[in-house]
Amino acid sequence: MEELTYLNSRMNINGKAIAAQSFDVIVIGSGISGGWAAKEFCDLGLKTLVLERGRPVKHVKDYPTASYNPWDMSARGALSREMRDQNPIADRCYAFDDATKHFFVKDSEHPYIQEKPFDWIRGYQEGGKSLIWARQTQRWSNFEFEAPARDGFAVDWPIRYQDLEEWYSHVERFVGISGNRDGLANLPDSEVLPAWELNCLEKHIQNSIQSNFPDRPVITGRCAHLTEPTPIHLEQGRGKCQARNLCYRGCPYGAYFSSNTSTLPWAEKTGNLTIRTHSIVHSIIYDQDKQRATGVRVIDTETGAATEFFAQVIFVNASTLNTNLILLNSKSARFPDGLGNDNGLLGKYIAFHNYRGSIVAQYDGFSDFYYKGRRPTMAIMPSFRNVHRQEMDFQRGYLVAFEAARQGWNRRDTLGAAPGRELKDMISRPGPWQVYMMMQGETIPKEHNQVRLSKDQTDKWGIPLLVTSVDYDENDEKMLADFLEQGGLMLQQSGCSNISPSDSGQAPGLDIHEMGGVRMGRDPETSLLNRWNQLHLIPNVFVTDGACMTSVGTQNPSLTFMAITARAANHAASLLKSQDI
Ligand SMILES: Cc1cc2nc3c(=O)[nH]c(=O)nc-3n(C[C@H](O)[C@H](O)[C@H](O)COP(=O)(O)OP(=O)(O)OC[C@H]3O[C@@H](n4cnc5c(N)ncnc54)[C@H](O)[C@@H]3O)c2cc1C
Ligand code: SF4
Repeated sequence: MEELTYLNSRMNINGKAIAAQSFDVIVIGSGISGGWAAKEFCDLGLKTLVLERGRPVKHVKDYPTASYNPWDMSARGALSREMRDQNPIADRCYAFDDATKHFFVKDSEHPYIQEKPFDWIRGYQEGGKSLIWARQTQRWSNFEFEAPARDGFAVDWPIRYQDLEEWYSHVERFVGISGNRDGLANLPDSEVLPAWELNCLEKHIQNSIQSNFPDRPVITGRCAHLTEPTPIHLEQGRGKCQARNLCYRGCPYGAYFSSNTSTLPWAEKTGNLTIRTHSIVHSIIYDQDKQRATGVRVIDTETGAATEFFAQVIFVNASTLNTNLILLNSKSARFPDGLGNDNGLLGKYIAFHNYRGSIVAQYDGFSDFYYKGRRPTMAIMPSFRNVHRQEMDFQRGYLVAFEAARQGWNRRDTLGAAPGRELKDMISRPGPWQVYMMMQGETIPKEHNQVRLSKDQTDKWGIPLLVTSVDYDENDEKMLADFLEQGGLMLQQSGCSNISPSDSGQAPGLDIHEMGGVRMGRDPETSLLNRWNQLHLIPNVFVTDGACMTSVGTQNPSLTFMAITARAANHAASLLKSQDI
């Protein structure tokens, strides 16, 4: 397609077309957060347009590889060399393989500019990354919401746990979260379905850690899988998880939560949803007289045609960095530097999770124990550093996750065996136990970690490319060193051997938990969004995906995005009802 700019391809829109293209609410993006906005608005009777840049993906029908066996794929699921070479960024994501590649953005099709290395992993399709997420769902607590004010970084969150508590419950009951009620102050309990079970070695490590370090509880990771569907899940047409762990291909049982299996079809059933795929939002239209946004400019990715849609309320849920891009690109005489960006902070204070540290170890024992199925979660330990007070020479902390499994037929000791009876015998028996442990560290939002628009390069639709300038700092290095030391110690005290700590050195972005750029706060001078996720300066524009996050905690973030979205959508609906927006 020839490069085009929005303005030179804009259609003429008459009054009739304006009516046909007007809705109560526009939601930009159909991923995890956009799906929740759509569900809430449609349930509340509001005519809702969801704009999605990617193609349609319908539950079951569009999961082409969901039931493939390894031998159904040309290289047993491995990617071809050509595919890997063409997609070095996507290829660094562990979930990108021959059976899932159609749910990942290909590097060459959607360029961006890495001023510093940043692996931006994206899923441009109906459902967004909800199809390919790992489904780990842990609530935040006030230890996270109060951290910036307490420790003096970023700005104070304008909300606390109590503001979100009921919305976490609201979301969790619908999504279906498996886990235990663990009674931990810094990982509040969820509304839970039965938990997955830890295996014998994981339980052994759990007990060992708890007796050596009483302030480091280990729990079963909570995750968005239906271990025992309730009536609300059955009403969504979803069934029980079969522990196959082939989820990244899309689940034909609807047993893990995705927009495609849950929120979008639910919203569709109300009759209030219009979903328009192949529709890139170019920018948001601002009316200076009304001091409100009136709609969005859209480019059809198939035809290149440009058009506009209108609504009283606009929710921006394009995922963190694309939400920043859309707002930065929404320029007008009033807002020449991006929508609502009088303070110049739009795109700044991007943070992420530090995933660099991992440890592999061996355990000699439990040789007559095995386990069944492929459990879709790990054992986790909530952050234990700097929780009650600043006690380390680095700020904030890290969550630890680990799992134990018996090595399979392709383990090291089978490699040297000669073909024949000995090899057959070896590979038909499980190998020794191996433990894998990883960190999920909080990074501190900093002004210089930012994204901005390129001044001279655009994509094939004429939209400026995003420039990423995000990096680690000394705090992250110190935290990494602490994890490697403490993780090794905990495994050693649990009786593990051959303990190998490593630093992947991976670039930011590969954690796929990027957040910030449009942060919430109390003061319009130092933040973009108020406590209800409205732009301080344009109250009918809401940002409720990761871009709104003032800090990043140590928990997997998407559950919090969903709760924040449901809360903000209900607030927006009440403002619409009272004509107060
Ligand atoms: C392999 C992997 C594992 C993960 N594991 C976890 C986990 O265990 N727990 C967790 O909490 N999180 C996890 N995540 C992160 C999680 O997927 C994201 O936090 C979540 O999807 C963000 O939701 P979102 O709605 O902001 O964005 P998305 O789900 O990415 O949806 C955004 C949508 O907006 C669309 N869009 C973008 N730009 C435009 C535009 N200009 N116009 C129109 N549409 C647009 C996109 O096509 C996309 O469909 C994981 C991600 C990956 C890839
Ligand atoms: S493990 Fe559960 S959620 Fe994942 S694909 Fe299998 S049945 Fe579906």
